[in-house]
Amino acid sequence: EKFVYFFGNGKADGNAGMKELLGGKGANLAEMTNLGIPVPPGFTISTAVCRAYYENDRTYPSGVLNQVDENLDKLEKLMGKKLGDPEDPLLVSVRSGAAVSMPGMMDTILNLGMNDQAVRGISSQTGNPRFAWDAYRRFIQMFANVAMGMDIDVFEEILAKMKKNKGVELDTQLDAGDLEKLVGLYKQAYKKHKKEEFPQDPKKQLKAAIDAVFGSWNNPQAIKYRKINAIDGLLGTAVNVQTMVFGNFGDTSGTGVCFSRDPSTGKNVFYGEYLMNAQGEDVVAGIRTPEPISSLKKTNPEAYRKLVALKDRLENHYRDMQDMEFTLQEGELFILQTRNAKRTGAAAVKCAVDMVDEKLIDEETAVSRVSPAQLDQLFHPNIDPKQKQVMELIATGLNASPGAATGQVVFSAEEAERWVAVGQKVLLVRKETSPEDIGGMHAAEGVLTSTGGMTSHAAVVARGMGTPCVAGCKDIVITGKSFTVGGKKYKEGDWITINGTTGNVYSGKAILSVPKMTQDLTRFLSWTDKIRKSAVRPGLKDKGIVIRTNADQPNDAKVARSFGAEGIGLCRTEHMFFDDGKLEIFQEMIVSDTLEDRKAALKKLLPLQKKDFAGIFKAMNGLPVTIRLLDPPLHEFVPSTVKDIKTISDELGIKPAKLREKIANLKEANPMLGHRGCRLGITYPEIYEMQVEAIMLAACDVVKSGGDIHPEIMIPLVGTREETQIMHDRIEAVAQDVLARRKMSINYSVGTMIEIPRAAMTADEIAEHADFFSFGTNDLTQMTYGFSRDDAGSFIPLYLEQNILHHDPFSSIDISGVGRLVATAVELGRKTKPDMKMGVCGEHGGDPRSIEFFYKTGLNYVSCSPFRVPVARLAAAQAAI
Ligand code: ADP
Ligand code: MG
Ligand code: MG
Repeated sequence: EKFVYFFGNGKADGNAGMKELLGGKGANLAEMTNLGIPVPPGFTISTAVCRAYYENDRTYPSGVLNQVDENLDKLEKLMGKKLGDPEDPLLVSVRSGAAVSMPGMMDTILNLGMNDQAVRGISSQTGNPRFAWDAYRRFIQMFANVAMGMDIDVFEEILAKMKKNKGVELDTQLDAGDLEKLVGLYKQAYKKHKKEEFPQDPKKQLKAAIDAVFGSWNNPQAIKYRKINAIDGLLGTAVNVQTMVFGNFGDTSGTGVCFSRDPSTGKNVFYGEYLMNAQGEDVVAGIRTPEPISSLKKTNPEAYRKLVALKDRLENHYRDMQDMEFTLQEGELFILQTRNAKRTGAAAVKCAVDMVDEKLIDEETAVSRVSPAQLDQLFHPNIDPKQKQVMELIATGLNASPGAATGQVVFSAEEAERWVAVGQKVLLVRKETSPEDIGGMHAAEGVLTSTGGMTSHAAVVARGMGTPCVAGCKDIVITGKSFTVGGKKYKEGDWITINGTTGNVYSGKAILSVPKMTQDLTRFLSWTDKIRKSAVRPGLKDKGIVIRTNADQPNDAKVARSFGAEGIGLCRTEHMFFDDGKLEIFQEMIVSDTLEDRKAALKKLLPLQKKDFAGIFKAMNGLPVTIRLLDPPLHEFVPSTVKDIKTISDELGIKPAKLREKIANLKEANPMLGHRGCRLGITYPEIYEMQVEAIMLAACDVVKSGGDIHPEIMIPLVGTREETQIMHDRIEAVAQDVLARRKMSINYSVGTMIEIPRAAMTADEIAEHADFFSFGTNDLTQMTYGFSRDDAGSFIPLYLEQNILHHDPFSSIDISGVGRLVATAVELGRKTKPDMKMGVCGEHGGDPRSIEFFYKTGLNYVSCSPFRVPVARLAAAQAAI
């Protein structure tokens, strides 16, 4: 079995396709060698060895060490040098490298092979004793620290003492004699701590270094890094043993890192930094300030020209932006690493679009190059990165709605509206929000809550509005008109900044950069649409998957449309009742004693609702609009404080005691599972009748004035065939009545939400009385798990930490449980109606991982908040590739 893969002299055993086995670094070193790029020769011990090493209780499978010896022989022959040779010794580096780049793993060991003999060989070979002793003392320090776990401070102290005694400040002011002395002191320190001599045998050094790299695969930082970044299924790390080249040979030597394009803007300009007379780590370590790559052009035009030619070659070969490490040894150029560069969202799009124009990649590749998270960055304000570094982080909550916001703290929705009316910018800070806060949330730059999860009211509404929101920030304690965090108090009017993309909360005001829709972005998204719309799925008549939006205001609908929404998947009618004037009438209806009084109140509401619907229909002209009939329990619409009760009872002309009694009657122990949704429709048929009438009248009006309308009336919270049938028949009756009165015919449909597990399990029966299904995955998740979405914030973080959950099921669909219910309902529903239209209108409709699942499950559309539409277009296209 082959465990070790050689690279050198223009030929390599491996290639770039072998990342799993050779790690990213090793595979690319092999690939570059095959391309004839100057790479110092060496060999890679495969990740399979790492796996076996752990399976066999930290021992190597037989054959591994032999193969290492054979490859070392081969390397020595090729280089014409031997490890530990007193005349002309070979020095190597030992580098880790898994299939996925992983900071937090073992550090690299440079100059391995140095010992008391080799140092003299290097000295006479190079004619530079200072260089030789410096390389030796660096090696002792790295080996002791990285391979043997010794504290680096031991060596730093010895070095500091020596500099002090000599009265110098910089390492470079120490001469060869000093460094030789330093080596002696380092070896003594090593012996003192490790109770053995510093190993002189280079093969022993190499074996220890290899052990250390494999050992580092399971060090705590590495494990943590893999967990945070959800990296699993890797075999382990590979080990690269590679001939040393030296950037610290003098003024014609140097080392640096460069990118084939600018990784922050994506512009096609050569970008990077370097240091002359320095070794590998010095650039990253930040001891000296590196020079921009452009100055190499002036100081060493020949090397610069070669480097440019190499980066062009590498980029052309990999057809992607490269991030490279290089070393110049006395004017000779070597490449030590290349990989696809990490980049910002802006750079990802720019680079993808440019590369299509340069005919480097096709449109499909371009679409797969930009992650949904990168695209999302481009649609929200950001804190200026330079400023972010100096801002004081005071707390972290859930990243509930992306984007940054800065403003003065206010503690109530009314205050928010009042401050904004006089031109201030505010951040609304609340324990949790409720429907009556909508006005204030709209006025505020951002919203911060101390309780609630990813689908709490604040989170859902903020995402819908595109308002940044940090939710469930438990560290802040709100009392009256102030909050405290970390012992510090923030009062009304103090400036704070939130970043809803990360969940961070900062003290003070920030400068924000506001994104724009660029031409590149428009083109890029048009490619995603091409792919998404032409996708064919087995068993489905229609091509592609449609992206709709959740919106209940004409303005939000327009925004969503400008982002590419192809219809409304969920228009919540209850938000409309919180507008000026309507709430009072609705409250009047709720507290009415008789059917007559209720109907009288509803009659006043009818024209107002009709106007709302007409506005939405016009904004979405030509596209389907799904309107959900009233869903929340009635108690959400009545006042709760004594003061408000007084005001409302005055307005309604009834006694406060009477109103209090009414309100008490509406109180429920568990309102989420209580008298809401179609249960209200069954018990108070007049409410839904009014809503359906308003929808159909609005549709008639808009059609009459030339509009093209497809209303889809949706019944919330059904669980049984009977509920569906009763609701469906009543809605039909009202709709037909309106059309008959108006003498018009309009294409409309009547469907249901599927958000109760029972509805999913009996979807074949429900489908008999429904024209379409829309999965309400928020409620479906809540009811399937039995997790209250308003309370889950108190335990979900711990569940995630302990791996009881792998994703927050309210942000990303639980594929094996809730997803199975969805899949079952799709199958059962289509058994009854084979071409039934089905979509998702829960928050999951904007989550890329969930979108992929919905695509595979055969849904016809997903619906998400307006600002999520571009991300959903991309995610759906990627699901279709
Ligand atoms: P990381 O994965 O942390 O970047 P690397 O293995 O790439 O670690 O090495 C760290 C530094 O050491 C890099 O700057 C690299 O270029 C340099 N380096 C590694 N091997 C050699 C070598 N054989 N000759 C010269 N420099 C090297
Ligand atoms: Mg590196
Ligand atoms: Mg619901």
